[in-house]
Amino acid sequence: MELLKYKSHLVNNINEKLSEWLGSSESEQVLNEEVYRFIHSIKGTSGTLQMEHLMLLAENLLNKMDPKSDVVWNHDELKKFLLPLIEFTYEYENQEELTHLESETTQHDAPLIQIIDDDPSMLMMLKEALEEKKWIVMAYSNPRQAVKQYFEMQPDCLIIDLQLPNQNGFEVLKEIQEYNDKFFVPTIMISVQNDKQTRIEAYQKGADDFIAKPIDLEEFIVKVNRHLERKKIFEQYVLIDELTQVYNRKFLRDSLPRFFQNFKRSKEPFSIGIVDIDHFKKINDTYGHLMGDKVLRDFAQYLKQNIRSFDMIYRYGGEEFIIVFPNTTSEDASRKLTQLNNDFSKTIFTCEDQSFTVTFSAGVFMVTDETLEGKEAIKAADSLLYEAKRNGRARVECSQMSNTYKKEILNVSVVDDNFIIRTLVANALESLTFEHVELNIKVFVDGPSFLHSSHAHEDVNHLLILDGVMPKMDGIEVLRKVKVGKNSLRYRVIMLSGRNSKDDVKQALMLGADDYIVKPLNMADFQVRIRKMLDRLN
Ligand code: GH3
Ligand code: MG
Ligand code: MG
Repeated sequence: MELLKYKSHLVNNINEKLSEWLGSSESEQVLNEEVYRFIHSIKGTSGTLQMEHLMLLAENLLNKMDPKSDVVWNHDELKKFLLPLIEFTYEYENQEELTHLESETTQHDAPLIQIIDDDPSMLMMLKEALEEKKWIVMAYSNPRQAVKQYFEMQPDCLIIDLQLPNQNGFEVLKEIQEYNDKFFVPTIMISVQNDKQTRIEAYQKGADDFIAKPIDLEEFIVKVNRHLERKKIFEQYVLIDELTQVYNRKFLRDSLPRFFQNFKRSKEPFSIGIVDIDHFKKINDTYGHLMGDKVLRDFAQYLKQNIRSFDMIYRYGGEEFIIVFPNTTSEDASRKLTQLNNDFSKTIFTCEDQSFTVTFSAGVFMVTDETLEGKEAIKAADSLLYEAKRNGRARVECSQMSNTYKKEILNVSVVDDNFIIRTLVANALESLTFEHVELNIKVFVDGPSFLHSSHAHEDVNHLLILDGVMPKMDGIEVLRKVKVGKNSLRYRVIMLSGRNSKDDVKQALMLGADDYIVKPLNMADFQVRIRKMLDRLN
């Protein structure tokens, strides 16, 4: 018997029911008995159709229910409760494409690549090719927007077209190079103009590579990969401390000014922590230098692995480390360090038949003053460290934070006529938390209801996740309206597009969308990308 047809039929039925209950009015209420009957019948049918995963899922939901209760489910509770079912139907319906995607999800530390090209077809093609490698790609057609993003996102590789609107790629290159000569970001110039003079000029102006259009994708990927590898090797030799494998003091000197420059632009305070191991001399004296070295190595790696990917850790001296926490108050940074101290002190080191544990002391200083320089900030953190030592060690002291500092609110809107996508995207966002922003998430069923909402017009930064194709008003039209609105500069827009709506994506990029994501969405990937974007966003 052909089960497939019946399977699809079942999933369709589930979808219809979910949409009836959850798709429209938020005031919809559903009787417990109905919900129970619905899930019960899913369990029976899915078992018969050998859909084991669905059957277990239904069984699990049933176990959480009381069939005799006469409660009434409200919209939000029911949505939360039925979320596993919503996820299931989405995955079932997009099975083919998602299994292809899910073979590997984007890693938290995946390289971030920025492409600037005024030709949207080129942008899309390159982005797709690079994303297949599970790299994260930000594509821009507007050079001004791209330069601003470059400083915020700190990409690992920059790919830039020579011919750009209003500005020549060389000018963009110059702007970036002046500011950025310490960071060794591989820069690849691409161009249809491929004469010797142009190539020479590209290299002279700081390009590391030059690729002529038309681009051979296979070769292009290999080249980018090679540049990323070399960046790593280079960092290893020049920027990394040999013993502890964290950044060295030289790189601290070179990179610290950048945090201060960012602060001047963004006004987002950041914190500097100095960490010093307690009674380290005693460890050396008691267990020998080799053991001391091991403690240092383990300690540094522990810190590195337990801070966020964009926090920077440097070895400052013998057993002293500096951690820079971007967009973080001293209170949050010291809370984090206190927790690290508690956890690390549980690590037991053994040497022959003796064992011992290790603690550290730390001072945290938050930079809130634009006139301050790196040296002074480190000095301030250092004196807090000594206060921590004086106060008995194994503790963290921090500078007073201004009590006016609050997490910034970021309005997030998800606009999609498909309630399943709407629900899953909002759910993926809700489970993300950030130290510097608080997400205020709202979902909308169509463009007009979003545009007329007060949410859309509040004076705060806004992340808009926008479906490209919607019945009432097209996503492109919504984007156009947002871009001419009074708050347009506060908006970041991510378009959701079908694999076949390339023209929409083109238009979206030209209208100034910041990024696009091709459907179906792999939610884990989606979260990594949003996190990467928001972590660095001011
Ligand atoms: P406190 O709690 O006040 O910080 O005491 P302490 O003993 O940790 O501090 P002190 O600064 O007196 O000693 C630091 C020691 O770290 C002295 C130095 O020999 C040792 N040290 C510095 N670099 C290394 C290294 O690379 N390996 C090893 N094994 N020891 C090192
Ligand atoms: Mg010490
Ligand atoms: Mg010391």
